[in-house]
Amino acid sequence: MGKNDQTINSEKIQRMEDICRARGLSLTHQRLALLHSLIERTDHPTTDQLFDDLKESIQGLSRTTVYRILETFVRAGLVVKISSPQAKARFDANTSRHHHVSCLQCGQVADLEVSGFDLPSFPKNHPSGFQLYDYAITFSGLCLRCQHSSNQ
Ligand SMILES: [Zn+2]
Ligand SMILES: [Zn+2]
Repeated sequence: MGKNDQTINSEKIQRMEDICRARGLSLTHQRLALLHSLIERTDHPTTDQLFDDLKESIQGLSRTTVYRILETFVRAGLVVKISSPQAKARFDANTSRHHHVSCLQCGQVADLEVSGFDLPSFPKNHPSGFQLYDYAITFSGLCLRCQHSSNQ
C-alpha cells in the first residue's frame, strides 16, 4: 500500500539535497533546516512564518537570512515563489506545476485543481527575447472561513 508521509518527505528531502549538490549549493545547517520546514508545511508559508518556525532552534537566525535562503532556493528551482494580492510572497516546496487560490481577505494560499486550466505548453524561447522557464496561475477569492465572517 501507499507510503506514509514521513517516507515521502524524506525521499523529497533526499531529492532536494541531490539537486543542491548538483548545483554546487552547499547545504548549511540553516538551509537544511529551512528545506525541512518547507517540505513539512503544505500551507504555502510566508517568510515570516518560516522564520517563526525556526527562530527557536537556530541561534542568530534573522528574517533577512531566511529571505535570502528562500531566494536562493527559488533560483535553484527547489522552491516555487507564489505572489499573492497581499504583497507577501509565499513559498511552496511542491515544484510540480499546479494552480493556487489566494484569499483576498486573510491571504491564505491553497492548492487548487480546476478543470479546463490544464497546463498549456509554452515556447521556451519567446520572440521577445525572454527565455521562459515557468508560469503560474493564481486565482483569487474568499476562503470558507472569510465568507462566513463577512456574512455576519
Ligand atoms: Zn480567508
Ligand atoms: Zn502549492
